[in-house]
Amino acid sequence: MKERKIFITDDNKFVIVCPICQKEETVNASEYKEANQVARITYRCKCGHAHHVLLERRKFYRRETCLHGVCIGEENIMTGMLVKDLSLVGMKFEIENTQDFICVGKKLFVEFFLDDEHKTLIRKEAVIKIVSGSLIGAEFCGEEPDEPADSAIESYLIP
Ligand SMILES: [Zn+2]
Repeated sequence: MKERKIFITDDNKFVIVCPICQKEETVNASEYKEANQVARITYRCKCGHAHHVLLERRKFYRRETCLHGVCIGEENIMTGMLVKDLSLVGMKFEIENTQDFICVGKKLFVEFFLDDEHKTLIRKEAVIKIVSGSLIGAEFCGEEPDEPADSAIESYLIP
């Protein structure tokens, strides 16, 4: 049976259309515990037809990572970091040494290599959202789908 991709919307719902009876159904994605990841589900329509779909929360899909890199703050102060998870909109990372430029609201540049087959270099500007000990959550500044780094992250997240 052919598998179709369905995108979960920001309000955590997805629309499924039965290929047999064309009936449209809006489903709440939170019923699927794997909703934070790519999930394969089998959905049974009221007409009895079961179809397989691949649920994707493209924008918010996070992948756990272990990627070494650096973050660069004001005056080009640099510190080593370990990227713990990555999504299209941001990342979580751990820094080796505490730095003054690590505080909520500050902008910095992050640089790391993906461990994909091309070892793609990612360099992005990010703003710090959460600081919890040595663990930092940052959101990327500006999402430009045409940017090579973004499409590299996208295909890294969803192969
Ligand atoms: Zn149906």
